[in-house]
Amino acid sequence: MRASRVSAGYGAKVAIAEDGRFGGTCVNVGCIPKKLFSYAAHFREDFEIARGYGWTVGEPRFDWPTLLKNKDREIARLNAVYESVLVKAGVEIHRSRATVKGPHEVEIAGRVKTAKHILVATGSWPVLPPIPGIEHAITSNEAFALERLPRRAIVVGAGYIALEFASIFQGLGVETTLTYRGKRLLRGFDAEIGTRIAEEMAAKGVAICFGCEPAAIRRKQEIEIEFTDGSLRHTDLVMFATGRRPNTAQLGLESAGVKLAADGAVMVNAYSASSVPSIHAVGDVTNRINLTPVATAEAMWLARTLFRGEPTPVDHENVPTAVFANPNVATVGLSEEKARERHGEVDIYQASFRSLKLTMTEKTERTFMKLVVDRASQRVVGAHMIGADAGEVIQGVAIAVKLGATKQQFDQTIGIHPTAAEEFVTLREPSK
Ligand SMILES: Cc1cc2nc3c(=O)[nH]c(=O)nc-3n(C[C@H](O)[C@H](O)[C@H](O)COP(=O)(O)OP(=O)(O)OC[C@H]3O[C@@H](n4cnc5c(N)ncnc54)[C@H](O)[C@@H]3O)c2cc1C
Repeated sequence: MRASRVSAGYGAKVAIAEDGRFGGTCVNVGCIPKKLFSYAAHFREDFEIARGYGWTVGEPRFDWPTLLKNKDREIARLNAVYESVLVKAGVEIHRSRATVKGPHEVEIAGRVKTAKHILVATGSWPVLPPIPGIEHAITSNEAFALERLPRRAIVVGAGYIALEFASIFQGLGVETTLTYRGKRLLRGFDAEIGTRIAEEMAAKGVAICFGCEPAAIRRKQEIEIEFTDGSLRHTDLVMFATGRRPNTAQLGLESAGVKLAADGAVMVNAYSASSVPSIHAVGDVTNRINLTPVATAEAMWLARTLFRGEPTPVDHENVPTAVFANPNVATVGLSEEKARERHGEVDIYQASFRSLKLTMTEKTERTFMKLVVDRASQRVVGAHMIGADAGEVIQGVAIAVKLGATKQQFDQTIGIHPTAAEEFVTLREPSK
């Protein structure tokens, strides 16, 4: 969508083929409905917090069909907005699946179209492990359209989608278990973040089982999951969030000469060009950093390269990201572990505290903030947070990290009081 609109804006003649709904994964079965569900789930705690502030609220009741209906209405509105944006940009729209036939040929609904450039932006799809009974499991795709909310759910995985859905289910009143074959959540994030988010989620009532790998699923009156250690768990819904695979199956890419990686990703260079110079790829299908703003940035860099005469390589340094679990997690730059690998000596500044909002309640949630500083240059190379609105806070901090700000420059910045975010500019003594 973004590549089409921006390229058309630069004067290119553009056609797009989409066999699903406009907006792709993010709008239909990703970021947007996920965040709406996450807001819905958070109200449970908000009602409890309100009591500490003198509010009396009756017994809160939650109605899943209302949430689903309102979510679907909002997504349908966004689908229409996206389509009209393309129409206004003068993009020729084909509501059909496309396959690549050659370096300059694409087949859409039985007709072959030719183009100087072809862009593959077909995204990714959830993968399920080939264990017996896997047909009884769902993925995030189905989670957005469940007819009814289960009484119990088991979410399998430890990445951001698993944590977000575990928090969503738990917040909406579902007895939730998160199972993971490894020992720490959020692989690739700062290790302390992985450990602490598990503690926070567990304190909120998500049962977490580490070292638990499903071996078989059986559907009886309820769902029975057998784990590799022989143990059994029973549930009403099992959702796998154990990874996604680039959408390149039967797309005709290999026969057109496009090289794919072992996981099916289109292999591209820094300008998102594949092994066939006229075929480019951006977004999840390249399996670089699978986030919406990264996909749209790659699309805009490519449009600039091809149609504005400004060759622009991708820039994947210091991409901020959030996990909308409860509590939220957000991060930019290097984890402590990666920073030690890259820079050797680092200074760690951190704080853990109960946020002001919770002090008049019985909530024990702790906000956690951490800065990773390269000792030699004193540049802040990583910022990490667990706590309310962590994504909103880290987005601002990400600008400073991207610009190479030093710890001293963080210290020179006046805080906004009283906020949690001010901690990032008042961390005085290194803890490590
Ligand atoms: C549950 C979930 C939550 C997420 N939350 C976040 C978040 O909070 N923040 C964030 O930044 N990212 C999030 N993501 C990731 C984000 O959704 C993706 O990184 C982003 O959508 C990638 O964009 P894309 O354009 O590469 O692919 P997609 O958005 O997947 O778009 C690909 C499009 O191509 C179409 N298509 C595929 N094959 C063909 C074909 N042969 N012919 C025609 N059309 C075809 C598909 O129908 C689809 O519309 C989330 C993802 C999931 C699954």
